[in-house]
Amino acid sequence: MTLPLWFDPTEILIGGTWQSTPRTLPVENPSNGEEIAQIARGEARDIDAAVSAAQAALEGEWGQLSAAERGRLLLAMSRRVTERAVELATLEAMDVGKPLAQARADVTALARYLEFYGGAADKVMGQTIPFQQGYTAYTLREPHGVTAHIVPWNYPMQIIGRSVGAALAMGNAAVLKPAEEASLTALAFARIADEVGMPPGAINIVPGLGEEAGAALSAHPGVNHISFTGSVAVGQKIQEAAAANVVPVTLELGGKSPQLVFGDADLGRALPFLVNAGIQNAGQTCSASSRILVQRAIYDDVLEQMAARYRDLVAGPAMADRDLGPLISARQKEIVAGYLRLASDLPIAARGQIAPDAPEGGHYVAPTLIGGGFGAHRLAQEEIFGPAQIVIPFEDEEEAIAIANGTEYGLVASVWSENGGRTMRLAKRLRVGQVFLNNYGAGGGVELPFGGVGKSGHGREKGFEALYGFSALKTVAAWHG
Ligand code: NAD
Repeated sequence: MTLPLWFDPTEILIGGTWQSTPRTLPVENPSNGEEIAQIARGEARDIDAAVSAAQAALEGEWGQLSAAERGRLLLAMSRRVTERAVELATLEAMDVGKPLAQARADVTALARYLEFYGGAADKVMGQTIPFQQGYTAYTLREPHGVTAHIVPWNYPMQIIGRSVGAALAMGNAAVLKPAEEASLTALAFARIADEVGMPPGAINIVPGLGEEAGAALSAHPGVNHISFTGSVAVGQKIQEAAAANVVPVTLELGGKSPQLVFGDADLGRALPFLVNAGIQNAGQTCSASSRILVQRAIYDDVLEQMAARYRDLVAGPAMADRDLGPLISARQKEIVAGYLRLASDLPIAARGQIAPDAPEGGHYVAPTLIGGGFGAHRLAQEEIFGPAQIVIPFEDEEEAIAIANGTEYGLVASVWSENGGRTMRLAKRLRVGQVFLNNYGAGGGVELPFGGVGKSGHGREKGFEALYGFSALKTVAAWHG
């Protein structure tokens, strides 16, 4: 199948002009290992030009627009994304390896983010503050200026929607550096911005390697805010770079998110969530639930019911739309295989299958369910980022909380119990950025703020809250006697 490209992916967008770069990077289809395109390999000088173009946009047409006009442009982008849904979903499936249905869901989410932030652009307000006699005091919400967006390969469209969408709604000018493994839909996003008449320089896109374009962007003194989504190791470098320029940074990093299943849970409702949250996007999800904590009385039953589902799971080519696709790269497959080798001292409860028609060159891993793991095992502590879950028994609430809070991450947790008091108690005591009670992930919910504590990062994206993160508060105190 040929890529449904309606643009040249070796070009980058700077200041409203698409231009070529002297160097390119190959794009691999993870489903079969074949090269399907070339993308631009931007470098430090392209980042310089992109930041200058963003600064110029703030001084020019983009900076002059009202909040309502910015909102209308985002709404136009949302409609255009929907018109391009088939091309976008196919590009994402072929570039990232995610099953077509999941790629379609990502397109829907991107359109919804743009709709949400388009609608929110003119609804962010400051406050008036009761103050001393003779004064009127109030606050203004202003854009930071140039915002840098460094995004990973696992959910390019969703992460661009939530981060660039919110930044533009607040009137920032964005420089986007997508992941080298998955830049096609990011480039399509910039094309769509162009197609709906986004003023020059409001969005600039420079694909390239992390150590080249990414490092140059995060260290650039012209950048006023950095939004980074990715690994802890790179997040630490980003925060150091931001510290050197004293700019705010949002870090959306990894996780080791648990689901806590109590003896009184509605298992019929819980089971699909328990498994799907582990295998969605082949486990390459920041909020993947790679730890399932089950009360001992129902442990064997839950493990067996999960195992039955696992045995039916099939990994296959993205366009065949099976339960899961391949991993993003040979490197990622090797990392996950390394983790699975660590499971040799643990009981494997079940393995799914790799479809017979899965091409040799694809990066497939059979989904693996591991039972009997204990809190201190590396598999129960480290982010695997592959289709594997570990099922851990606990006695009571206290032990469940201790295990759940016992990693350096703190992204997501869920609690499955019909005891309302217990769910509310645990919602308070779980050390994470978001808790889901009797569900997992709330269907994505663009309206819901999202972010981590601990090594899962800091700052919040998604929802209205993100608009505060992408703006600076200015206080005005006027003395008028
Ligand atoms: P990564 O950290 O390797 O790469 C992320 C981005 O950073 C890419 O664009 C990459 O090019 C860039 N980069 C790499 N080195 C850089 C450097 N030295 N300076 C600047 N930029 C650099 O992450 P990944 O492997 O692409 O993504 C997987 C990780 O992302 C996982 O840990 C996952 O949990 C996390 N993630 C988190 C969220 C969230 O919302 N919390 C969402 C998705 C993914």
